[in-house]
Amino acid sequence: MSGHGDGTRVVRAGLPAPEQGQPFMPGPVFAGPFHLQGEVSSSEWLYTRYGNPSWARYEAALGELEGGEVVLFASGMAAASALLLTSLGPGSALAIDRGCYRGVRLFAEGHLQGVEVRLAPPAELENALQGAQMLWLESPSNPKLEVYDLAALDEAAHAAGAVCVVDNTTAGPLYQKALDLGADFVLTSATKHLSGHSDLVLGYVATRDAERAQALRDWRTEAGSVPGPFEVWLAHRSLATLALRLERGSANALALAELLSARDDVIDVRYPGLPGDPGHEIARRQMLGWGTIVAFDVGSRERAERFLADCELVTEASSFGGVLTTAERRGRWGGDDVTEGFIRLSAGCEETADLVADVERALAPAHP
Ligand code: PLP
Repeated sequence: MSGHGDGTRVVRAGLPAPEQGQPFMPGPVFAGPFHLQGEVSSSEWLYTRYGNPSWARYEAALGELEGGEVVLFASGMAAASALLLTSLGPGSALAIDRGCYRGVRLFAEGHLQGVEVRLAPPAELENALQGAQMLWLESPSNPKLEVYDLAALDEAAHAAGAVCVVDNTTAGPLYQKALDLGADFVLTSATKHLSGHSDLVLGYVATRDAERAQALRDWRTEAGSVPGPFEVWLAHRSLATLALRLERGSANALALAELLSARDDVIDVRYPGLPGDPGHEIARRQMLGWGTIVAFDVGSRERAERFLADCELVTEASSFGGVLTTAERRGRWGGDDVTEGFIRLSAGCEETADLVADVERALAPAHP
């Protein structure tokens, strides 16, 4: 599929060559063991913990979009933990942005035995890097949508002798080519936009280092953190509409961000596509689209809860990247540096005018 745009690639990537009488996309391959006579080396497929044709097709598709090898895992956190555990050991140090996804911070602090975990604010990341083996970044970050200069930080990591990981979940491979920006590894929760229908969990690591990709596959086989073929097939089927879903979701997010930032009863609206956003200039350089997530503060916990209850087209739920618009008061989870009235909203694929009217109604002064 080389030479084509991503909107074309997502429709066709990973599909088998046309074969008379065969479907465009074969169904999921449900197998534990496969027929295997004689030597183990005589077959590509042995036992699904080692590999499965449904994974292989989806990994090939994602590899085209990322520009590297892709190793799929049972969830984003299974991918993140595999990467951390195969890269770091006793005596090593990890520099990690303290604004990154709380699940990654929880894992790093709770389960990396003997590893010095240096949680640092953005301005101190370069210092925290000295003597570290890995830098872990997330841009735009979840939930606060901070944008970091990935090329500059990747370079700083390499100069310090560390590898650089970019959690690219909020942008995804269509809106940010993190390997091209210098990352050694890209971590993505495919639970979000990639699958897009809020019906599964899945994750992957992408890298251009063949040896490290093999180490991750070995880990997956030996630790057993493998995805189910049906989830993988569903995600691959959903990939075809990724560009279309992102286009609509991003247009909706921009419209909502503009609406929210024009109101004086909503503060701290963050969306990389707003010209006044602190991350806008960097995002313009390194992103290919603004994305579907908007963050804002409605002033108090009570008003946030009322707003969420009063919206008809904004479903109160965690996570992001689905066809339904969803939002939550992030402070309800704890563990993030957010105010009580902070809301993270994920714009879905509803009609823009309907969504804007719904949010405007739920914020009206009748609901102070
Ligand atoms: N990274 C980010 C930025 C996330 O938002 C999430 C989940 O919300 C993860 C990683 C973990 O992904 P999963 O929930 O698929 O394990």
